[in-house]
Amino acid sequence: MAVVRSYVAGRWYAPDAGAPVYDAATGDLVAEVSSAGIDFAAALGYGRQVGGPALRALTFHERAELVKEAGQLLRKHRDELYELSYRTGATLFDSKFDIDGGIGVLLGYASKAKRELPNDRVVVEGPAEPLGREGGFLGQHLLTPRLGVAVQVNAFNFPVWGPLEKLAPALIAGVPSLIKPASQTGYLTARMVELLIDGHVLPEGALQLVSGGAGDLLDHLTEQDLLSFTGSASTANRLRSHPNVVARSVRFNAEADSLNMSVLGPDAAPGTPAFERYVRQLVTEMTVKAGQKCTAIRRAFVPAGVAGAVADAVREQLATVVVGNPADKATRMGALASLDQREEVRRSLKALEDAATIAFGDAEHVEVAGADAERGAFLSPILLLATDARRPEPHEVEAFGPVSTLIGYRDAADVIELAGLGKGSLAGSVVTDDQDFAAEVVLGTAPWHGRLLVLDDDAAAESTGHGSPLPMLVHGGPGRAGGGEEMGGMRGVYHHLQRTAVQASPRMLKAVTDRWVKGAPRNVDDVHPFTKPLSRLRIGDTVHAGPRTVTLADIEHFAAFTGDTFYAHMDSEAAAKNPFFGGRVAHGYLIVSLAAGLFVQPDYGPVLANYGIDNLRFVTPVKPGDEISVTLTCKQVSPRSGDYGEVRWDAELVNGDGKVVATYDVLTMVAKEWNE
Ligand code: NAP
Repeated sequence: MAVVRSYVAGRWYAPDAGAPVYDAATGDLVAEVSSAGIDFAAALGYGRQVGGPALRALTFHERAELVKEAGQLLRKHRDELYELSYRTGATLFDSKFDIDGGIGVLLGYASKAKRELPNDRVVVEGPAEPLGREGGFLGQHLLTPRLGVAVQVNAFNFPVWGPLEKLAPALIAGVPSLIKPASQTGYLTARMVELLIDGHVLPEGALQLVSGGAGDLLDHLTEQDLLSFTGSASTANRLRSHPNVVARSVRFNAEADSLNMSVLGPDAAPGTPAFERYVRQLVTEMTVKAGQKCTAIRRAFVPAGVAGAVADAVREQLATVVVGNPADKATRMGALASLDQREEVRRSLKALEDAATIAFGDAEHVEVAGADAERGAFLSPILLLATDARRPEPHEVEAFGPVSTLIGYRDAADVIELAGLGKGSLAGSVVTDDQDFAAEVVLGTAPWHGRLLVLDDDAAAESTGHGSPLPMLVHGGPGRAGGGEEMGGMRGVYHHLQRTAVQASPRMLKAVTDRWVKGAPRNVDDVHPFTKPLSRLRIGDTVHAGPRTVTLADIEHFAAFTGDTFYAHMDSEAAAKNPFFGGRVAHGYLIVSLAAGLFVQPDYGPVLANYGIDNLRFVTPVKPGDEISVTLTCKQVSPRSGDYGEVRWDAELVNGDGKVVATYDVLTMVAKEWNE
């Protein structure tokens, strides 16, 4: 039997023998797994010395392009991955969650990064902070890629999605990854990594794989490395407190287990659409991936008076769930990942039964379609009914399988308190059409949650569901859930970057960041910057324009033309009473339009479009008779992959007294070259 390969230090490797891994549904041997013989220090060194520099040579957009190509490549091999995924006990539906979901994270991150990050190697975060009275000393936060390796230790239940949701942000950040999947299902991760390595989509050293145990990996982590863990709370604690991780302040992120809740609102009586939705969602969460989902609903909170009705409705639906061979189309729920895992769930159930009665299912027997019930790790879905809402077991014991406990509550305050007994969860949901109840429960339970879904009539058709983490939303939770935060759009990328506050003069800050900041030198020459393509435009290129007098006729013309006859512009008496103006003032949008008329160079040229304005502030009112002048300065250039790039211009309008009237950034698209 083949030993699952690792990919370290630029080559594939497998020892001669390893621990057996069995097919979750048939009990047949699938592979052997072992990391014996791997030089973990060398693997980390290779990532730091080969993968890191190659990734850091690229811009965020170029890295995002690689991530997109990786997603597209895997998409072409989905069928092969589904086939292998059956062996983990997953049905096709489960596999889509894992494999298509993982590919979706790659593609989602790639497009988000191109929209939200600069086409650069450094993120300049927020505006510069003035630190002195005269504007000669500023502070600016910069984010740069860490120089180490992102070590990603993953759980067995999502062998594709799990690594990909960590890989995408790490790659975009410019940090190489070393993936260590769980031994039980790592053969599927290994195939996915093989596809990426053989497809040559990523720079050498950007992706490494350790199949099997972690050995002495953690002993070799250094200050610039990251350790990102998904798995049980007990392993999370072991890794978090590893002496080397502690001593070197290795950046650590954990996604651990949690007792996630779903609350049925008091308005959702039996027979209402909300009640049906709640029951359907609970059954889905119990049975998808045979309940082996970190976000699955473990605690189903329902108004005490309807607990019996909910139990009946859930029972009715669970009775129709076909448990069996995951490769069969008719199968709704496949097997747990291993016989050991089934024993683990049975043990947890024993603890739960001290505080609950079984409302559906039998932990020892289940009818299995198309497979051997004993050789495969099959288990019946099990619904429990808590005998006492405050007994600790349902709030503390995670049975990582198709198991949920119904718990009755009295009112919003009661359910908020019960939710907190879980000591921190990844996800929760509130199924209700009652806005007051939703607001109270969401705000009351938010401190214990990473993500909360409010499911009402309006959201039902488009809802992505209780259990689906999404690349744009934070995945993670406080306390028991690990205290970590993954994904969440660019937050996940920032986790791999070092934030540094740089204090300097405007001139030095411009040199460091390649962005113009107020106070830095401006370049003024005879050539209007609008006539320069990106190849000739320089940061700091400036045009001064004006003055122009703003007349009452201008204001009245603008009001009549646009229909904006707001009293502050048109009614002297009313405007005089206004605490800010004390008389008629020009429209802010008139001032901005007049400024454009002053700074524009109207000829056909390399400026292709104005696509918006950022940070517009009207600082001083402009009264009839006031003069305005404008200074427009090239602040930032972001080349795109095509023939053009984005240029951000700093616009500052002043009046005749030199007082700032308005400030904003003008956003334009400019051609890279221009020969006409
Ligand atoms: P686990 O036993 O904690 O193992 C998780 C990973 O840690 C595996 O790759 C495992 O490797 C590795 N590991 C174990 N001991 C280690 C050590 N001393 N040093 C380094 N690595 C070590 O968890 P699991 O049984 O695979 O996963 C099930 C649990 O994960 C459930 O409790 C579930 O709630 C949780 N989970 C959480 C999330 C989330 O996003 N929060 C997602 C999925 C699952 P080996 O397999 O080689 O032992």
